[in-house]
Amino acid sequence: MKRSALTGIVVFVGAGPGSADLITLRGARWLGQADVVLFDALTDPALRDLAPQARWVDVGKRGFGRATGQSTIDKLLVAMARQHAVVVRLKGGDPSVFGRLEEELQALQAHGISAEVVPGVTAALAAAADLRRPLTRRGQGRSVTLSTAMTREGQLRATRQADTEVFYMAGRQLGALGRQLVASGWPPDSPVCVVSRAGWPDQLASDHTPATLAAACMLHAGRPTVVTVGAGAAPTASLGIDPAPRSPGKTAARTRASSSMNLGVDHGQDSVQTRTA
Ligand code: SAH
Repeated sequence: MKRSALTGIVVFVGAGPGSADLITLRGARWLGQADVVLFDALTDPALRDLAPQARWVDVGKRGFGRATGQSTIDKLLVAMARQHAVVVRLKGGDPSVFGRLEEELQALQAHGISAEVVPGVTAALAAAADLRRPLTRRGQGRSVTLSTAMTREGQLRATRQADTEVFYMAGRQLGALGRQLVASGWPPDSPVCVVSRAGWPDQLASDHTPATLAAACMLHAGRPTVVTVGAGAAPTASLGIDPAPRSPGKTAARTRASSSMNLGVDHGQDSVQTRTA
């Protein structure tokens, strides 16, 4: 691992979307070497155990707005790298996916500070894993997009560019997203799956169509949410996949039972799944 003699290195580490054990070994190793950790709100507090020696600084998001402004974070990163050998910038999910990584890399580059990026599990992948619904399917699911439903100007935008589309940051406007999905060419009965707090013990998932997506608003209110549309949103029950597998290692003790109940909304397909810790 690189270290400059004059200034420190900033290592962007993807924490994964949920439980601490979803971090990579490389990310965990950097945490073990960190002098200071700048972390986001959506990262698991249990990760502190991997860097008890470090100073932990909360620069997190609150209610999907930023508690600490982006330019403040950029300046803080530069200042920290001048004082410490190893600065870890811990980000939820993967740093390269809707993580404002570009701005932070640019700030470091402008000051000649070296940086490294350690990938993490992005929310879309954790949601697919939680539900055991592969994002690609032989024959029908050849492409996947990760899209933000919100433009920079705060407008909602939906598309149909791939067999499976996963929308981030749409949690507050699911009804409008449903209408836009139909307007952008998705059949009104396409499978749509909404997953909030993917990767956490209290993960919640519900099945819809674009026509009934508004019903998911209440259920997932106030929780980070991804919306999967198309091939990758369809249940795999007909493939004979075990509905409640056990995970190895740390999570083995946790019973990952999935229960289904009808939401009682205007489409028979709608259902909700919870995972009990
Ligand atoms: N870098 C992150 C994304 C940050 S943007 C990643 O790779 O996952 C924040 C958005 O990510 C949220 O609005 C939500 O759409 C999504 N998100 C983050 N964590 C999530 C989780 N545990 N479950 C579902 N969606 C999540």
